[in-house]
Amino acid sequence: MAVEQTLSIIKPDGVEKNVIGECFRRFEKGGLKIIATKMVHLDQAKAEGFYAVHKERPFFASLVKFMTRGPVVISVLEGENAIQKNRDIMGATNPAEAAEGTIRKDFASNIEENTAHGSDGPDTAKFEIGYFFDAGEIHSR
Ligand code: ADP
Ligand code: MG
Repeated sequence: MAVEQTLSIIKPDGVEKNVIGECFRRFEKGGLKIIATKMVHLDQAKAEGFYAVHKERPFFASLVKFMTRGPVVISVLEGENAIQKNRDIMGATNPAEAAEGTIRKDFASNIEENTAHGSDGPDTAKFEIGYFFDAGEIHSR
């Protein structure tokens, strides 16, 4: 299995619930390394660009409003099979369907305010990491 990098966002609801450290602990305990991280308050254009793939979805405007209502913590995670591993640690998009012990099961309020984002594949991960980080801000180790 290959070492991968993936983009993680602790969304505004996660920051509001003060579970940044708890999410980081789960990433590290799950075998992932945090190789870049920062707190950012996204503006509308940055959030719209990030979620451009969803721009035709009925929830797009609401999602952008949510993602810009407060700061988020954006990180690059690295490890064996990191993309799927992070998604397993997060759980299903809808917290009502998320497995026990996952971030979304434990902290998400609903399908929109679901605490965490994780890239869904290698191409998306590459785009998303480049969308937020310069190469010099990433410390692969
Ligand atoms: P995931 O984040 O699990 O990859 P998607 O890529 O399908 O899920 O959706 C992106 C984000 O849009 C979700 O994490 C969630 O915040 C929001 N979202 C998805 N589906 C809905 C929905 N039906 N209603 C409201 N918000 C949604
Ligand atoms: Mg997605």
